[in-house]
Amino acid sequence: MAILQTRQLTAFYGDFQALYGIDTTLDAGETVAIIGANGAGKSTFLKAIAGLIHGAADSVLLDGTPIGACAAADIVGLGVALVPEGRRLFPSLTVEENLLIGRYGRKMAGPWTLDRVYGLFPVLKARRHSATPTLSGGQQQMVAIGRALMSNPRVLLCDEISLGLAPIIIADIYAGLPQIKAEGTSVVLVEQDIVQAMKVADRVYCFQEGRLSLTGRPRDLTREQIHRAYFGS
Ligand code: ATP
Repeated sequence: MAILQTRQLTAFYGDFQALYGIDTTLDAGETVAIIGANGAGKSTFLKAIAGLIHGAADSVLLDGTPIGACAAADIVGLGVALVPEGRRLFPSLTVEENLLIGRYGRKMAGPWTLDRVYGLFPVLKARRHSATPTLSGGQQQMVAIGRALMSNPRVLLCDEISLGLAPIIIADIYAGLPQIKAEGTSVVLVEQDIVQAMKVADRVYCFQEGRLSLTGRPRDLTREQIHRAYFGS
């Protein structure tokens, strides 16, 4: 059974409909990428799974159980953690304090400890007593990922973790993904960088104006199919 499933997921901001009947599945240990142009609904999709906006209760299922009406804090407790767009770190706190916040109040057993996060991103250990605004953008992104891992999620939702970063830094961040997968964590990546998404994803979903326009394994999809699904022409 899929660990995470969306069934006819819709989402609204007031009267504006951002998602239309999205059906997806995520299997245990799988990495799925969500691609699509600006405004396609990718972040909204992650927010709906994370409980930051709500559709129908049974439009998001975790292990077959509806979680679509659950509060965001409860969803973290169930093992689904979001790395939000823009990182959302606490600027007055140190790297280590930000990481520890990810563990606060969580009782999920699992492999992720401070030491494991420092093993994944060694630069964070060297900077552990620094306030996060003094870190580079890439290092801040590592803190945001580490903070989410500290809750020992079974599903990690990543929103645009490469946005605004230099290619070499993006490579450093993505180098951590195999270790995260090796712990059995399933990953949903929202990624505008299609090349990066294709490299790491087991399967890809393309969104276009709030609708699913294409799905498949990267090796089975042609450039033309992706271009059409992405831009609609
Ligand atoms: P981007 O890459 O720009 O973040 P996206 O694919 O993640 O794009 P969303 O952020 O999910 O897209 O936005 C989908 C649609 O919903 C867009 O038309 C956007 O303008 C709209 N939208 C997003 N957030 C809100 C909001 N808080 N209030 C109203 N409309 C919103």
